[in-house]
Amino acid sequence: MKATKFFLKTEKEIPADADSINASFLIRAGYIQKTMAGVYSYLPLGLKIIRKIEDIVRQEMNKIGGQEILMPVLAPKENWQKTGRFESLDILYKLQTADKKDLVLNPTHEEVIVPLVKSMITSYKNLPLYLYQIQDKFRNEPRAKSGLLRGREFLMKDMYSFHLTQEDLDDYYEKVSDAYKKIFSRLGIGDKTVLTHAAGGSFSKYSHEFQTISETGEDTIFLCDKCQVAINKEIIVEQNNCPKCGNEKLVEKKAIEVGNIFKLGTKYSAPFDFRVSDAGGKLVEIIMGCYGLGITRTFGAITEVFFDQEKSKIIWPESVAPFAIEIISLNKNEEAEKVYESLRARSIDSGRGNPEDEVFYDDRDISAGEKFADADLIGAPIRIIISEKSLTAGGVEISRNSKTEIVELAKVADLL
Ligand code: ATP
Ligand code: MG
Repeated sequence: MKATKFFLKTEKEIPADADSINASFLIRAGYIQKTMAGVYSYLPLGLKIIRKIEDIVRQEMNKIGGQEILMPVLAPKENWQKTGRFESLDILYKLQTADKKDLVLNPTHEEVIVPLVKSMITSYKNLPLYLYQIQDKFRNEPRAKSGLLRGREFLMKDMYSFHLTQEDLDDYYEKVSDAYKKIFSRLGIGDKTVLTHAAGGSFSKYSHEFQTISETGEDTIFLCDKCQVAINKEIIVEQNNCPKCGNEKLVEKKAIEVGNIFKLGTKYSAPFDFRVSDAGGKLVEIIMGCYGLGITRTFGAITEVFFDQEKSKIIWPESVAPFAIEIISLNKNEEAEKVYESLRARSIDSGRGNPEDEVFYDDRDISAGEKFADADLIGAPIRIIISEKSLTAGGVEISRNSKTEIVELAKVADLL
């Protein structure tokens, strides 16, 4: 992608009402735009990151047998009345059709998926079943804040599992927990993201959150730094030592809840009277688990972790970087064009079918200072600088992992 064609505008000024690193940085650097409080548009730079996060999440969900579906944003009131949540859930957005039928903008999808699955399966032979989606969620959060961390409209991956027995649920729950660990480590925040015990699902003593340690986080957790396991402050009354090793010296940290997994038991199958026949022909209630992961919140959390406030720059983890490589030409456009073409020809492809996707070439007619300033906002893990100086030294300058080397023009594509 050439900068002259790319839909991007960076700002020097930090937006006035941005209350967090992710909001101020991502808006200023042209990744997202704020449409209203808690509601954002995603520009090409930001959407590229979202798609990469989604791809990693999809791969790990598919590996544990998840099948992807897509449920609607709208649902009829009746589904939500069945579970009592039409009245009890304060963050529910309600609206009406022209002929005054009440609707809900789904904030989560138990009320949609349970009747859906019920209409399709009747026997234990269809179990277990694992379905997930990546979908917009709507929540009337009283205080939308911290940019992508608490939105009124946001992207979530939500998976629902259906089981005949508790043992089967317990087993799968561990698999999902392991898959989440893999996801966060592939996203570059594995060392900062800890399994956290939180107030129970309806079916178990605890639910589990994945908390990314960060000063911007809304949550307070107590971390056992031996086990890298934590307890959410909200449940500390019941548990004040490490649930794994008993260690009582826990360290208080601020953290962002990026995922949350629950054993639901029959909480949602019961109100819909969702039962199937077991091997003996007896009707039994379905046991469920649910597993949320905030896609846009995770994007915000990655930003909080990787933004370097002192230098006012970011270098994204390779797995989510909007561009793997940025080429900066300092009045050497002919040579830069060659490098750009050779990299494109070698198909550095993000897997999304467009080799151009991974290489950003700043071909604009602006000062070196402006190019470098913008490169610090785009955050490509590999930077190639082509200048009079580099050519005199024998080629182009390549920086990655804070190392810089000079590489012959013709050898760049081979090397990368
Ligand atoms: P929180 O405790 O932060 O309000 P929650 O426990 O209600 O979130 P879940 O219903 O479990 O969240 O949703 C699953 C995931 O969706 C969360 O772990 C989080 O990553 C994400 N999420 C929840 N609410 C929001 C929001 N308002 N904005 C962005 N992401 C959110
Ligand atoms: Mg929560």
